Amino acid sequence: MRIAIDGPAAAGKTTLARSLAEKLGYLFVPTGAMYRAAALAKKRGMAPEKVCIEVREGGRILLEGEDVTELLENSDLDELSSQVAVDGRVRRHLVALQRQIAQGRQVVMEGRDIGTVVLPDADLKIFLWAEPEERARRRLAERGGDFQEILAAIHRRDERDSTRKDSPLRPAPDAVILDTTGLSREQVLTVALELVEERRAKLAR
Ligand code: C5P
Repeated sequence: MRIAIDGPAAAGKTTLARSLAEKLGYLFVPTGAMYRAAALAKKRGMAPEKVCIEVREGGRILLEGEDVTELLENSDLDELSSQVAVDGRVRRHLVALQRQIAQGRQVVMEGRDIGTVVLPDADLKIFLWAEPEERARRRLAERGGDFQEILAAIHRRDERDSTRKDSPLRPAPDAVILDTTGLSREQVLTVALELVEERRAKLAR
């Protein structure tokens, strides 16, 4: 089974996709981290549309063979990755890699365009949503900082991700929209596991 999890910034996609993959024994593919690695490559003076990015067990990311996982989650790369993600050449490069990774595998892949572009024939598509203020609160709890600044950055990124010409953020027509506002991580995982079971039952018929 191939599971696509899309949604706006800080909606909990990575957390859900990782736990779901662990529960199901599937490969976890964080495509947000791949765009972050492309942004890091650009910062280091490399061409982000050409760099070698690999995804390893547990969603670890290698950039030109170097494990850069710990360097990817910060506000600098939040912003830079969404800028790099507007570039059609970078998108083509990463989408090709993502399809290659998913080929013949059971995966949980998270991102912005997985259900619409990368895996349009995914067996289950979840569009994870939460109000921007709730997403900012979660990010604040994770990383600290200033609430208003975090909220403004989330709005900026949502706007850029949803209005770009190439693969804008939007739910696939056949995605299940899951509003996580007010739900705990565990509750979100429980709902997602129920959706997986339902889909499995349907596929088995
Ligand atoms: O999800 P995350 O915040 O790690 O993603 C970083 C940035 O990468 C997003 O703001 C978005 O611009 C871009 N992205 C994308 N398509 C994906 C995954 C991420 O454009 N499939």
